[in-house]
Amino acid sequence: MEAVNNTSNFIKNIVKEDLESGKHKEIITRFPPEPNGYLHIGHAKSIVLNFELADEFKGKTNLRFDDTNPLKEDTEYVESIEEDVRWLGFEWDGLYFASNYFEEMYKRAVLLIKKGKAYVCDLSAEQMKEYRGTLTEPGKESPYRNRSVEENLDLFERMNKGEFKDGEKVLRAKIDMASPNINMRDPIIYRISHTTHHNTGNKWCIYPMYDFAHPIEDAIEGITHSICTLEFEDHRPLYDWIVRECEMENTPRQIEFARLNLTNTVMSKRKLKLLVDEKVVDGWDDPRMPTIAGLRRRGYTAEAIRNFCREIGVAKSNSLVDEQMLEHFIREDLHLKAPRTMAVIRPLKLIITNYPEDQVEMLEIENNPDDPDMGTRKVSFSRELYIEQEDFMENPPKKYFRLFPGNEVRLKGAYFVKCTDFVKDEDGNVVEVHCTYDPETKSGAGFTGRKVKGTIHWVDAKSAVSAEFRLYEPLIMSDDQEESKNFLEQINPNSLEILEGYIEESMKDAKPQDKFQFLRNGYFSVDTKYTSENKLVFNRVVSLKSSFKIQK
Ligand code: ATP
Ligand code: MG
Repeated sequence: MEAVNNTSNFIKNIVKEDLESGKHKEIITRFPPEPNGYLHIGHAKSIVLNFELADEFKGKTNLRFDDTNPLKEDTEYVESIEEDVRWLGFEWDGLYFASNYFEEMYKRAVLLIKKGKAYVCDLSAEQMKEYRGTLTEPGKESPYRNRSVEENLDLFERMNKGEFKDGEKVLRAKIDMASPNINMRDPIIYRISHTTHHNTGNKWCIYPMYDFAHPIEDAIEGITHSICTLEFEDHRPLYDWIVRECEMENTPRQIEFARLNLTNTVMSKRKLKLLVDEKVVDGWDDPRMPTIAGLRRRGYTAEAIRNFCREIGVAKSNSLVDEQMLEHFIREDLHLKAPRTMAVIRPLKLIITNYPEDQVEMLEIENNPDDPDMGTRKVSFSRELYIEQEDFMENPPKKYFRLFPGNEVRLKGAYFVKCTDFVKDEDGNVVEVHCTYDPETKSGAGFTGRKVKGTIHWVDAKSAVSAEFRLYEPLIMSDDQEESKNFLEQINPNSLEILEGYIEESMKDAKPQDKFQFLRNGYFSVDTKYTSENKLVFNRVVSLKSSFKIQK
């Protein structure tokens, strides 16, 4: 059973108070992605927060596509977002599209005009910037600010009919050009964009701005607590103004929390899309991507991601979380679930010269020493094996306890073998290691004669199945993601290493997404994209060890 999230946080406290005071009978939250890319691990934090908050207080959560910007949105993204939210283990109550509220939003804009609270402005984007003022200086009023209600109604209608070009006119809220909060200086609430929309097609050529649309969407759905990231704190007065002046029946409350930032991880959809478009990665689900689809293909489980999101908690100030913390949770989950098996990812032939040529033994090996319920499996053993290249050294340093001439090690689950000889190719690479084995030392037979310091894993050459292994390193080597830097130059050129090696026969029928702990090599998951009938491809989810410790 998974642990429930019973830690308290400031948002829960607000919700509790609102229920206890009777302000709300039931809470409704929403997860409102813009369908302009795939969801990433940052979104997972918001998803877990919104859905679990509603669950805990027996409320509801809507999935709402915030699709008010036709230029960047696409149905492919809508589908991927639904899939990812479900895969994370959450089921929404209502499924909505902001674009279905365009008619309602238009009416509310007309209402603002009629109340003298909105006007059509002809200033160019550049002029508007000039008029806006700065943090220390107030803005200047637009010369179009005092147009009559009739003129504004007429112009707004003609904007809607398509009589003007993109950028020629905008509708602005009439608030206060001298406000210390720049967001309140007559923000644009509608703009012209002659663009086909993924949902409404060519029905509209004017589109609402986020700051106008979002509070209306929340109010229409009766959202009680509208949770967003800290950048929107300064937008809250505008949010409340829109709800009030548009005379919405419900009054949602915006609450801000710190977004998730992870070391060595890009979390902006715009930048992730650049990686896809520039073919730095092989798609949104490339196992190096911090997208939910990428993490899933890499071999992450939904449980691990949820546990991670719970552990990082909800705070009011931004911070950078070590990506090793995410890795900690996948190790913790797979430690229980993934059977231990043997695979050799950089093979070196080992020949046991005193082992009978045609003999094959079936050794019984535990699937998980930490969980006897996972049973045992039969693994074949014969004269020729593969071991890891790094498990043999001709001239070992001190404290190297694996194979070198004259040294004896244990082959995991099998016998002691002693290195007698080795063979090099013309370039001086060791290509074959020769050993003798001691039949007395069979694992499980109670041999106590002597001890060895090293145990290495192996795969029987006769029955081994060849496989591909993909090892990953972070895509981005720097945490300095200043907008001024060209982030494509910060890409790690060695983020993917592809190796050819062998797996034990027991895995020959492994299916995409099957997960294993390869002894000493890490946790691996069968790739969904490159695995075919003829070839098994394994992604390394995470290595076995890290120095990272969670503070309890
Ligand atoms: P991006 O900059 O990556 O496009 P966004 O905030 O524009 O992100 P949206 O699709 O608008 O993406 O986000 C949907 C929801 O997910 C929002 O409520 C947003 O606050 C939340 N969210 C996005 N990124 C993070 C993050 N890194 N941490 C926590 N919540 C996030
Ligand atoms: Mg966005």
